[in-house]
Amino acid sequence: MMPDEECWNAALARDRTYDGRFVSGVMSTGIYCRPSCPARHPKRENVRFFATGAEARAAGLRPCKRCSPDDVSRDERAVLSAIAAIKQAGQPLALAALADETGYSPSHFQRVFTRHTGMSPAAYARALMSEKAAQALTDEGRVTEAIYAAGYSAPSRFYEGTQGRLGMMPSAWANGGKGATIHWAVVATSLGSMLVAATGKGVCRLSFNEGREALEERFPKADLVEGGAGFAALLAQVVAAVEAPGDFAHIPLDVKGTAFQEAVWRELQRIPKGETRTYAQLAAAVGKPKAVRAAGSANGANNVAVLIPCHRVIRTGGGLGGYAYGLEIKRTLLEKEAK
Ligand SMILES: [Zn+2]
Repeated sequence: MMPDEECWNAALARDRTYDGRFVSGVMSTGIYCRPSCPARHPKRENVRFFATGAEARAAGLRPCKRCSPDDVSRDERAVLSAIAAIKQAGQPLALAALADETGYSPSHFQRVFTRHTGMSPAAYARALMSEKAAQALTDEGRVTEAIYAAGYSAPSRFYEGTQGRLGMMPSAWANGGKGATIHWAVVATSLGSMLVAATGKGVCRLSFNEGREALEERFPKADLVEGGAGFAALLAQVVAAVEAPGDFAHIPLDVKGTAFQEAVWRELQRIPKGETRTYAQLAAAVGKPKAVRAAGSANGANNVAVLIPCHRVIRTGGGLGGYAYGLEIKRTLLEKEAK
């Protein structure tokens, strides 16, 4: 049993990663809860912590109807067994088959899995495959191992509160990143070596064939930290999104440009997966039909490749146009998305 103080802090933070590790008994009401219970926090002096629901019941308490603390271990077992099955298969498995194993309905199982890992079962399987590719490169292998350790045990703290917001929250971009901490990693993907960097607000740089020097150039005053457990969970989502482009509206971004550049970037995010626009259409869409070249430049100034899909812009007449990281990557991305 962990110290009471740790339990109390976990309960105050409603930290889901502690669910199943202890329950909080509220002696004044006779109820016990999981750490993440959404109900109002009781007074500290009324709370006692128990390692298991059985111990709480032995002390005369009843399970909370709101958070069903006794179902935690069942959820956890279901998620762990699904992860084992995915690892063994080495490929995505049908949601229905995974859910069937656990006795949950597919939609319920999807929610349980995502709550625990921060990813859907399909995204988890894709990320796992990316990791296999990455292991060939020893340095990157170390980082990606952390992704999966983090994927299950410490999800989402890094970007807590920003998930689900498709926004641009400039933080690191002022004054060379002064005062900002930027976590980063280079990972191998099917598109080649990919640099991902993020502040606590979201991804601030996604590029190919770049390393730490490129980040230092852009954020000379930021505190650059390689890897990090919380960052790894976000990184796993980014890798999964790049391997299956189109599925990334939930990933928070932290970017800053001129008003015109940001208008262009927002417009890029509106191009549906599998479709392309011309530079002229892009200029027209932001209300500046004559600014075709400026739209092209704004496109090129995009700092977050793939997630702000500048690869979806091509020449009038169908030519691929340019791409900061080479036409091969652009072509591959568009082919993947067309499927
Ligand atoms: Zn509760």
